[in-house]
Amino acid sequence: MEGLVLCWIGEREAQAGLIETVRAHVGAELRVAVETGFEPERPGEAWDARRRQYETGRILKWLESRHVGAAKVLGLTDVDLFIPILTFVFGEAQLGGRAAVVSTARLAPGNGARAERVLAERLRKEALHELGHAYGLVHCGNLGCVMGRSPGVTEIDSKGPSFCMDCRLLYDEALRHAR
Ligand SMILES: [Zn+2]
Ligand SMILES: [Zn+2]
Repeated sequence: MEGLVLCWIGEREAQAGLIETVRAHVGAELRVAVETGFEPERPGEAWDARRRQYETGRILKWLESRHVGAAKVLGLTDVDLFIPILTFVFGEAQLGGRAAVVSTARLAPGNGARAERVLAERLRKEALHELGHAYGLVHCGNLGCVMGRSPGVTEIDSKGPSFCMDCRLLYDEALRHAR
């Protein structure tokens, strides 16, 4: 099996710098090789015309079917995401599954250089958080842990970019079993 594949599946053009910062961060934290894959298709079937948002469950299934050889696949997008019970989500992953998705849609604090930095930082955290779920990690109550719940950007901003010691141990364990 290949390692972790990261691909852009957004509506607008991919921002190379943003994708690279996510790739470097998750690669360093998860200590796996991350390959940036080109994805020419878009998960059109995940569009919900009534809600005018994309349903993450369908995006995850689509990602899995598009990247059958990847151990894990992370889709990065700029469209607004939802799961049926919530108004919106920043991202989602199947617990212990192969696919994860994260969107910039609700992470951007506006325009300008500072906004770009904040967006990149939030996206790195949420990407690692969702991949953590894909590796079987659940939400963590330890202060500053990236696996902490983040219903809003305030919670994202107040947590750190990495796993706490407990989550790190669980992750190492999960990785050992995956090999
Ligand atoms: Zn979560
Ligand atoms: Zn933790």
